[in-house]
Amino acid sequence: MARFPGVDYVLFDSQLNEQELMVRQTARQFVDDRVIPVIRDCFREGRFPSELALEMGRLGFFGANLDGYGCAGMSNVEYGLIMQELERGDSGVRSFVSVQGALVMYPILTFGSKDQREKWLPRMAAGEAIGCFGLTEPDFGSNPAGMKTTAKRDGDGWVLNGEKTWITNGSVADVAVVWARAEEGIRGFLVERGTPGYGTSDIHGKLSMRASTTSSLAFSDCRVPASAQLPEAKGLKAPLACLSQARFGIGWGVIGAAMDCYETARSYTVLRKQFDDRPIASHQLVQEKLADMITEITKAQLLALHLGRLKDTGKIEPAHISMLKRNNVRMALDCARLSRDLMGANGIIDEYPIMRHLCNLETVKTYEGTDHIHALVIGERVTGVAAYR
Ligand SMILES: Cc1cc2nc3c(=O)[nH]c(=O)nc-3n(C[C@H](O)[C@H](O)[C@H](O)COP(=O)(O)OP(=O)(O)OC[C@H]3O[C@@H](n4cnc5c(N)ncnc54)[C@H](O)[C@@H]3O)c2cc1C
Repeated sequence: MARFPGVDYVLFDSQLNEQELMVRQTARQFVDDRVIPVIRDCFREGRFPSELALEMGRLGFFGANLDGYGCAGMSNVEYGLIMQELERGDSGVRSFVSVQGALVMYPILTFGSKDQREKWLPRMAAGEAIGCFGLTEPDFGSNPAGMKTTAKRDGDGWVLNGEKTWITNGSVADVAVVWARAEEGIRGFLVERGTPGYGTSDIHGKLSMRASTTSSLAFSDCRVPASAQLPEAKGLKAPLACLSQARFGIGWGVIGAAMDCYETARSYTVLRKQFDDRPIASHQLVQEKLADMITEITKAQLLALHLGRLKDTGKIEPAHISMLKRNNVRMALDCARLSRDLMGANGIIDEYPIMRHLCNLETVKTYEGTDHIHALVIGERVTGVAAYR
């Protein structure tokens, strides 16, 4: 199996310490050995490689930047480097790990009770239990504040009614973090698979994120005990805090997809010959595209590293993460498109990873706050004027 050589134009690695390089190498090797050999078939079959979950748990990938309860307690830069390598394999694999760690384990750790933490976190860190995060609804995507799913107090418990959709890991999850509107505002609940009144159905026909399960969740007079409520999650700021964690990982992850596209196209253009038996890499128009790609990847790496260091010192803000997510996803999509072009007809076949990444990145542009919504976050930050409505 060919080893990924990495993409490092400005001695980026000199900014990483030994521990960070070791974590990246572990994730890199896992992707080369375990993800790349199966991912084309998974994408074709529309199947998440669930056989990798326990192994990823053993490697400490789930909730890698969280402390305690069996989590690896890594730095945010180490966590970002893992996300980068996983998404070099496939955005679906990175999404699985993002949802598990940032959208399920993080809220249980941050907003959950001691019992909830003890019950779920060690098993989730090990990959023995899987979670999903239900925020989006059929009528409320970019504007989750409008959610219609309700939570009504009923004796010593709660009754949930409503629908969530586009939920990663939905039908495979042992537990769903569900956001619902209660009389006192938006609240979070842990709903276990098999709870009466809770059902899931998978979304089919996706041409993007095919190696990832995406489902709808339905709640019909679904009764959960009082102990299912996340006691410290109060208001929309709770799910938004989870999204900030996940978006940070996405900002790193997409660099991996871009690196894979760039390196595939670069090595192809050096070997592929046209016109007088010359490699297509000898043409100026081809070199310009490679120069654009490596420049943008390098800028994205530096932004991610800087924000990782800010997060590690507690100085990061949600608006910083919006810039990271928006810029780096755009950059990765541009690299995927340029790479596809440079490979001619071979750019569209799944023998190469480019088209798979390109299709996946269309989802990454939309979920966790669309490109537009992050532009509005940045716009509000620099003008002081909110323009969402
Ligand atoms: C594969 C996949 C997995 C997902 N996984 C999850 C998950 O695990 N959990 C979860 O809760 N959700 C998940 N989502 C849902 C995702 O977060 C939403 O799709 C996203 O928030 C956008 O919502 P929407 O699709 O309803 O688009 P809409 O909100 O309808 O937006 C459509 C378009 O209108 C634009 N738009 C909307 N409002 C404005 C505005 N004010 N100004 C300018 N433009 C605007 C948007 O930018 C976009 O271009 C997933 C989605 C996909 C595709």
